[in-house]
Amino acid sequence: MKNKKKILITIISVILVLALIGGGTYLYVMRYAFDKNDTEEFYRQNIAAVGYENTVETAYPQTDLYDIIDEHFRSELPEGKTEKKAIIIGYDGCRADILAVKSEDNSAVSTLLNDGASINLAYCGGVNYPEINTQDTSTAPGWCSILTGQWADVHGVTANYIPKSMDAKTLMTTLTEEGIIDSAAFITKWAGHFSKKDATYLPEVEYCGDHGLHVSFNKCDNDEASHKAVLEEIADEACSDFIFVIYEPTDSVGHGKGFTFNNPEYKEAYLRADAYGYEAIEAIKARETYETEDWLIIITSDHGGKGTGHGKESIQERMTFVVMNKEWN
Ligand SMILES: [Zn+2]
Repeated sequence: MKNKKKILITIISVILVLALIGGGTYLYVMRYAFDKNDTEEFYRQNIAAVGYENTVETAYPQTDLYDIIDEHFRSELPEGKTEKKAIIIGYDGCRADILAVKSEDNSAVSTLLNDGASINLAYCGGVNYPEINTQDTSTAPGWCSILTGQWADVHGVTANYIPKSMDAKTLMTTLTEEGIIDSAAFITKWAGHFSKKDATYLPEVEYCGDHGLHVSFNKCDNDEASHKAVLEEIADEACSDFIFVIYEPTDSVGHGKGFTFNNPEYKEAYLRADAYGYEAIEAIKARETYETEDWLIIITSDHGGKGTGHGKESIQERMTFVVMNKEWN
């Protein structure tokens, strides 16, 4: 009897110790998921350290990018150039304050800035902070607002997994349809864009197919595969005139372990995305026809994040950034 009791006590003790170790490990690994120090004040300090040309209060709507790209393709070619090209290099879920992280030599952001690029804050969510957002600060609404130049009241994508309205076509489609460009390519790993039931761009894929438009929708298995597809696209002599690629390290790490400037893994994820971007830009510069091409290069994000999520109204979720090799005017 006594022995049985001893065994029982030992078993319970072992379970308790294991639970404590497990719980402790979990709390340690997830210590940035509920970062108390990720305050608005801290956020604004880091924003200031980046050196943005505008402020949170004067941030541009992310929908403006549509007009900037549209105008790029429709304006006259500069002297000595024979071809217009553009690329959006998207860092999904990349907060605007994380650009204060000192980057390495292989940084797309630093490379563009060293070449005189502009750097500005933008906002997602339909209205600027601190107003309550009118659409989710999420992936599908964000990218769709950039690609259509409209908010969700027009494009209809109020959240992920809602097929977009064809009342607002994407730049890929309108520019190709009007013959302003020959072709466009959309490269991503997330199935929610055009690869699953109720994915955002399914109506657009169908429309492009029905109208024989040269717009390719390329779903890749992971970021490495997306990056490989981008490099292959750029290396092609006759590459698409407009390329849209989304890299997701920041979104993945943010959802897993916390979107915060204090999370070293989130910083590392930004640097990983930025290294992909760097290689894409280097590949563009390596094109044989680069000297006669007029490239608009834009790096931006769809939304930020807070804790392990996004979608709501906080400043950390609302602000995005735009680095581009052109003045914002
Ligand atoms: Zn996203």
